[in-house]
Amino acid sequence: MKQRFDIVVVGAGITGLTLAAKLASGASRDSLRITVLDGAERPRFSPHDEVTLRVSAIASGSADLLDAVGAWQHVAASRLSPYERMRVWDAADTPDSPSALRFDAAEFALPQLGFIVENILLQDALLRELDATDVELRFGSPIRSLRQSGQRYAVELEDGVKRSADLVVGADGSRSFVRSAVGIETRSWPYEQTAFVTHLCPEREHRSTAWQRFLRDGPLGILPLSDGKVSVVWSTKPHIAKRAMAASDRELGSMLTTASDRVLGALSAAGPRGAFPLGAQHAERYVLPGVALIGDAAHAIHPLAGQGANLGLQDAQALAEVLETALGQGLHPGDQPVLRRYERARKGANATMLHFMTGLNRLFATDSRLIGEIRTTGMRMFNRSGPLREHAVKVALGVG
Ligand SMILES: Cc1cc2nc3c(=O)[nH]c(=O)nc-3n(C[C@H](O)[C@H](O)[C@H](O)COP(=O)(O)OP(=O)(O)OC[C@H]3O[C@@H](n4cnc5c(N)ncnc54)[C@H](O)[C@@H]3O)c2cc1C
Repeated sequence: MKQRFDIVVVGAGITGLTLAAKLASGASRDSLRITVLDGAERPRFSPHDEVTLRVSAIASGSADLLDAVGAWQHVAASRLSPYERMRVWDAADTPDSPSALRFDAAEFALPQLGFIVENILLQDALLRELDATDVELRFGSPIRSLRQSGQRYAVELEDGVKRSADLVVGADGSRSFVRSAVGIETRSWPYEQTAFVTHLCPEREHRSTAWQRFLRDGPLGILPLSDGKVSVVWSTKPHIAKRAMAASDRELGSMLTTASDRVLGALSAAGPRGAFPLGAQHAERYVLPGVALIGDAAHAIHPLAGQGANLGLQDAQALAEVLETALGQGLHPGDQPVLRRYERARKGANATMLHFMTGLNRLFATDSRLIGEIRTTGMRMFNRSGPLREHAVKVALGVG
């Protein structure tokens, strides 16, 4: 009989679920017994509920991956908001100035640049696909301990359930239990910014455009939603985010109308609010024998270009492909040389994006006149540089 390997994925966020769905639909699925476990309750999406607070800009390449595992059909049948244009401008300029960056899907012969989708809808869609497989899904009990025993790992949950694994995948977010339990260190770069998130009603239609204004305290992202509202991700000083959390609806509308330079006219408060402290973080290594980290457990980056989940999805895809190939060659999925192939495929690419976002955030956060002039000139030149623009857009869309 063919040998079967046990894979335990800790974390049923977007990246953990995508990895499980990819492995469960791949050619080696019969060689694997997969368990996905999460400390939180199972997320449930209802199209009758209001659009939920946490949304992500999902690049076309990520949508293709979710389509390949069957999840995108559920997203497309529920609600999503394609965005066709992007405008990025500096606080010292206007959105229609020559130095504002403009990206139009039509210019790249694409129907859209990406989609704004609720995180809970993405999880729900992936879970609906996984329900139809023999992947074991366990919710509502966090992991309590992770111990190596010989070539395997013993996993114990708070509710006493135990599992043994040939490979443990840490997909448990930026404060990963798996990462600390196996002693993988991280490098961190604090941003001294908090992301304030809410939904607002704009006076003018959003015209399927994603807007980003670089303010000195941090970028303000305005994303179009399917219900005509916009989702705002305002990265700003922690005390300003605190003020926004406590403000009355009127005060909040006025704060964000000013911060957005009235690009969509007056903005009125129209939904729940949340605040997320920001910082960049990168794991020193992604793998050890029998362990791999993916998604935010491996790297956390600034949300300014909406790349965090997209990078996590690319990790999930890369790890699934590496494991498929190894299993096809009769190799053990927890072997260090196998897992190193995944690390080599992703760590450099994630580091480049992480440092680029950190640099970009700093570049726009300075008041220096000289840097301001360099910034404006650079943005103008970028607008006129055909191949560079095309390359940047392909990378951002995950198709480069
Ligand atoms: C304000 C903001 C806006 C963002 N916007 C975008 C965007 O537009 N586009 C984009 O691509 N990215 C965006 N991101 C980043 C994106 O949200 C994350 O990169 C992504 O959600 C990470 O997914 P993940 O599955 O790796 O981790 P998570 O989503 O953090 O999931 C981890 C899972 O592990 C579980 N877990 C944690 N600890 C344990 C434990 N001990 N035991 C069991 N389970 C555990 C948690 O319950 C959770 O379900 C944004 C981030 C922020 C803060």
